[in-house]
Amino acid sequence: MTFSIHGLAVARGIAIGRAVLVASSRVDVAHYFIAPEQVDAELMRLVQAREAVMVELQTLHDHLPKDSPPELSAILEVHLMLLQDTMLADGVSGWIKERFYNAEWALTSQLDVVARQFDEMDDAYLRERKGDLEQVVERMLRHMKGVAHVIPHPSAKRSNQTRQQDLQLGDEMDVPLVLVAHDLSPADMLQFKQSVFTGFVTDVGGKTSHTAIVARSLDIPAVVGARTASQLVRQDDWIIIDGDSGVVIVNPSPIILAEYGFKQRQADLERERLLRLRHTPAVTLDGQRVELLANIEMPEDAPAALEVSAVGVGLFRSEFLFMGRAGALPDEQEQYLAYKRAVDGMKGLPVTIRTVDIGADKPLDRTVKDETHLNPALGLRAIRWSLADPAMFLTQLRAILRAAAHGQVHLLIPMLAHAREITQTLALLDKARKQLDARGEVFGPVKVGAMIEVPAAALSVKMFLRYFDYLSIGTNDLIQYTLAIDRADELVAHLYDPLHPAVLRLLAETIAEARAQGKGVSVCGEMAGDPAMTRLLLGLGLRSFSMHPTQILAVKQEVIRADASKLEAWAQEVLASDEPAELMGLKP
Ligand code: PEP
Ligand code: MG
Repeated sequence: MTFSIHGLAVARGIAIGRAVLVASSRVDVAHYFIAPEQVDAELMRLVQAREAVMVELQTLHDHLPKDSPPELSAILEVHLMLLQDTMLADGVSGWIKERFYNAEWALTSQLDVVARQFDEMDDAYLRERKGDLEQVVERMLRHMKGVAHVIPHPSAKRSNQTRQQDLQLGDEMDVPLVLVAHDLSPADMLQFKQSVFTGFVTDVGGKTSHTAIVARSLDIPAVVGARTASQLVRQDDWIIIDGDSGVVIVNPSPIILAEYGFKQRQADLERERLLRLRHTPAVTLDGQRVELLANIEMPEDAPAALEVSAVGVGLFRSEFLFMGRAGALPDEQEQYLAYKRAVDGMKGLPVTIRTVDIGADKPLDRTVKDETHLNPALGLRAIRWSLADPAMFLTQLRAILRAAAHGQVHLLIPMLAHAREITQTLALLDKARKQLDARGEVFGPVKVGAMIEVPAAALSVKMFLRYFDYLSIGTNDLIQYTLAIDRADELVAHLYDPLHPAVLRLLAETIAEARAQGKGVSVCGEMAGDPAMTRLLLGLGLRSFSMHPTQILAVKQEVIRADASKLEAWAQEVLASDEPAELMGLKP
């Protein structure tokens, strides 16, 4: 039966393929494809985990205190029985042998299949055994943690072996694959970079959640906030992801398939057409030069930025080097080499390295949500996290300063609000330089910039301009904090509005003040990469935009068609309006 699910459109285009479900688990689980020669080792990890849990449960059972309730002993017996049941074991090995899933992914996938069977049982007692099965699987997953194989580096060049493996997957199913999950952490999403998936759907997430941002950087159609998609879609269902409208169509009829196949070809043609703009200078009709920079997550993204003629990196989200490593932070040398790779990769063009922005929806570990704090987005994130651990922050600052010896590096500090945060940051930067001097280490000069992403910062822009060489406006957070809308929460996504008059006023005043003082100002939030916003931002005086490489050509097309001088008066009208979206023709 055909049905559709509505979510939020985050990455453009149409994907058609068979669904691969990533089951959600309370345990932090890695999802990755293994090479065919790793199958036996992966099966062995499963066997070992199962045996370890058997011993654990048996020991618990044998040492139950005499006065413990009899139910406890019965529960442990049920768990031991479930552990030995072939329904789980056989299914799991299938996922590993046939689909090349890593053991944890295979285990949670099979749990999902079996759990659905339990859900459909008439007998209430049996239905309730689903919870027991989940507990058993969680025990196994916990055992497997720490004995996992190294996760293939997401941005490492695809080896022949991986390509061959992808082909095998393709050959076997002979169709593209789309990933459907309850939630994916940004680190998980990054891991799927260069993977076999041609589209993504998640139940949760907002348009500018970091998972959505990474999906956009993959340039693969994606829909987030699709609420119950992972429960409604079944493994191997055919689905269409319409990344333009946020619709997911499950089991489409041949007519619908043909229609979307046509749309897909149209989008491919449009992409090819845009490619012709690669070497066209980003200059408006009235001769205003506009700087189009790239946002990157990993040093290995630099070639993609050069391919579309980005004139530098306006935002390197360094936190991706820190994530998904079970809390083991990269040391100075590892960071230095990563930053140097980005600098070398950009071949002399400037690279803006933002200091680590961990917290809120970017947890260090893969655990998707920070449930230990009431309000993670308002908590210890970004510069607050760095200043809370000066040794860690100094390590990062030294690494960035050393990388600056190899090319133009700009340092960017996220989420500042208070004068004392600014002075502490600058004092630590000074200290990092002194430490390097004392070690006799070579390092280079950096321009130091602040992100304007908290309303308090936008409202004190004059203070920021006294301390910093340039500003970069993080509209994703500026919108979140101005409108009190959690950017990662799909339930309030309809209220997340880049065109709210308050947001536009903060934006306009920040741009105007920086320009008046002759200092550089750019926008590096998702607004900069949205072609529907280009004319407005130009009209507000913005001449520097930083976005995912995949969006640069579409924005360039808007720039070269615009007459910036004529847009100024119109932008002021938009700014004065109660409903700016209407004036921009974006809402009825
Ligand atoms: C922003 O907030 O706009 C920004 C660019 O930073 P991030 O999306 O990484 O929070
Ligand atoms: Mg931000």
